[in-house]
Amino acid sequence: MPFSALSAALDAARTDITVFFRDDDAGWADEQLTTLLDIFEEQRAPIDLAVIPQALRRELALDLCVRRARSRSRLGLHQHGYSHTNHETAGRKCEFGPARDAEQQLKDVKAGQMRLRALLGRVDPIFTPPWNRCTQATVSALRAASLQVLSRDHGAAALQLEGLQHLPVHVDWCKWTSTPAPDWGALDQQLALAVERADGSEPLGVMLHHAAMVDADWQALRELLGLLHDHSSVRLSLMNELIVAQRCIAAQQSAIPI
Ligand SMILES: [Zn+2]
Repeated sequence: MPFSALSAALDAARTDITVFFRDDDAGWADEQLTTLLDIFEEQRAPIDLAVIPQALRRELALDLCVRRARSRSRLGLHQHGYSHTNHETAGRKCEFGPARDAEQQLKDVKAGQMRLRALLGRVDPIFTPPWNRCTQATVSALRAASLQVLSRDHGAAALQLEGLQHLPVHVDWCKWTSTPAPDWGALDQQLALAVERADGSEPLGVMLHHAAMVDADWQALRELLGLLHDHSSVRLSLMNELIVAQRCIAAQQSAIPI
């Protein structure tokens, strides 16, 4: 049982845990993406795809639209940067980093938004920056483009969100399973730790990168989804459902009692 630590953490949790899966880089590696989506369909589990606008072609867009229609609200689609290009000449890779000012960032956000809408129709108002990195100028660009949610890593540097919601991921699957050798025990421990830390206070986000996943990942992913699906303390959710729920709670809390 590769997820024994996670299973024990879930059994010990005092409150229910909401879990979402965000898979990045849709538009690349279609074959692995198809495998990933088939597994989530088989397991009847929800999955959010962060789609690279410039990499999305018509054939994949059509497949995603058909899958979304038959998924009974178990497939979410949102924007992952524009072209997934690193614009920094030094330091860590960023598409929406300090090398680009607010105007340049807004241009790319809007171009990506228009392309996704043209190819996919409905797109969730969520933005995942490539490499999980962006700047304060990105926040302004997202607001100007009427996007509502920023999704990065939970440890990312703090930004003034100016009304945007933040829906971070907590566990990077591929950090523990890619070369030189997968460490399933470490992944299990990270998931267990994330459950203990979340303890019902915020949704637990798991980040996947289908392009880096191989047969052993698919088998482990099936087992993880089976465990989460069957556990009475777990609720699997789409990111957009969480946003709607949070907004509704905020509206109720600010409403005048009647
Ligand atoms: Zn990416």
